[in-house]
Amino acid sequence: MLFWKKKKEEAEEIIEEIKEEVSEAIEEIKEDAAEVIEDIKEEIAEAVEKANREVSEEDNQEEEAAEKKGFFARLRDGLGKTRSSISDKVNEVFKAFKKIDEEFYEELEEALILADIGMSTSMQIVEKLRERVKEKKLTEEDEVKKELRDIVAEILTCEDSALKLDTTPTVILVIGVNGVGKTTTIGKLASRLKREGKEVVLAAADTFRAAAADQLEIWAERNDVRIVRLQEGADPAAVIFDGCVSTRSKGADVLICDTAGRLHNKKNLMDELGKIYRVIERELPGARKEVLLVLDATTGQNAVNQAEEFNNAAQITGIVLTKLDGTAKGGIVITIREKLGIPVKFVGVGEGIDDLQPFNAQDFADALFY
Ligand code: GDP
Ligand code: MG
Repeated sequence: MLFWKKKKEEAEEIIEEIKEEVSEAIEEIKEDAAEVIEDIKEEIAEAVEKANREVSEEDNQEEEAAEKKGFFARLRDGLGKTRSSISDKVNEVFKAFKKIDEEFYEELEEALILADIGMSTSMQIVEKLRERVKEKKLTEEDEVKKELRDIVAEILTCEDSALKLDTTPTVILVIGVNGVGKTTTIGKLASRLKREGKEVVLAAADTFRAAAADQLEIWAERNDVRIVRLQEGADPAAVIFDGCVSTRSKGADVLICDTAGRLHNKKNLMDELGKIYRVIERELPGARKEVLLVLDATTGQNAVNQAEEFNNAAQITGIVLTKLDGTAKGGIVITIREKLGIPVKFVGVGEGIDDLQPFNAQDFADALFY
């Protein structure tokens, strides 16, 4: 009996051990399974994310392509007279093109000068073209024309051609002589920035005429942005002060300041801007200041002279070239870039709210020499 009892106990022990082993094995299997499930989940999540990314990239590409096409078409249309002036003359030279000889280069240089590109810049463009044609052994009309386009794009290319809005807030001071399009440019710029999701405040610091502030107010209403103004004849720096306070209290992203165009005297301009800078530095310390000089392209060489004068008195960070839609003198974009080294940041190609375009060197060159 004792023997059987002992055997039974032994058997029970073995059963216990087996049970334990089995349950351990089950635990292990469960853990492994959980891991496998986790892996599968991760893989599925990655695949879903990748698919989403691809779909949205496709959407973006389509949107970008549509936007790019719209932008390019508008630029080409907007450049109307500038484009036909430059490209007609240059095209004539290319049409008469039989072989690349001295005569061809001379005629091309003449055509560029006639398109208001300026003597020294035109000479430089042709000189570069000469070198490239030789170096790359170009013979075909299309190749030579593409090279010309690329040379002009290179001259116009500039790293800081985008508006720098890297501080919140950023202050944009818009300067330039009367009638060049400062107020209109501010209206268009406010619209563009608002569309990008920025909160904008306008300061009507052209206090010479009440009508100037009225004009800015119309743009503010149209864009549904805040504007600060004072009475006619008020100190422009006082308006800027109010603008800074409003920007701060609203937590706005960009303060755009309109200024009077009658400071066309170096000392006056420097004094006035100095005062404005000090107010901004005190009220919005650390804010980046973009100083945009607005030039009217229809004034041709005169715009270049204005740019030189303003550049001596103020630290201009960018140029806005307006009225390119109404002029055959668009070639001065190239001259300004070449002579002053200041980036052209925007071009105005009409009076409408959407007629301000960020300047893109290659697009511009492609639109000019098509
Ligand atoms: P401001 O005195 O510098 O402020 O110049 P305004 O903004 O008052 O503009 C003077 C005139 O130029 C107005 O009639 C504007 O509509 C016009 N203007 C401004 N920019 C452009 C542009 O890009 N193209 C055309 N065609 N007209 C413009
Ligand atoms: Mg104005």
